[in-house]
Amino acid sequence: MIEKNDWRLAVNGAAYLKNKYMNPTDGEEIVINAPYLDSCVFCLEKVKNAIHRRWFVPEDISCCICEECYHDFREMFGWELLDGWDIVWPET
Ligand SMILES: [Zn+2]
Repeated sequence: MIEKNDWRLAVNGAAYLKNKYMNPTDGEEIVINAPYLDSCVFCLEKVKNAIHRRWFVPEDISCCICEECYHDFREMFGWELLDGWDIVWPET
């Protein structure tokens, strides 16, 4: 749930996430393909290597968002959900 003046919205730079397209993924995919993403950009929950934990990444894979924050903020930020099949992970 979002609270008034939700502390998670104090995140530096969260404004650039407005109107982004988001891909669903999971903790294992992030750990393997984008290990530089270690926590949710909003609540700072740590990414764990787990296939049953859903995460969301913008198309530029610049951050990751946990399932709870995704659902809390998707309307406020105007996110469009993609199908997750076309994620272009950075070269490692
Ligand atoms: Zn979160």
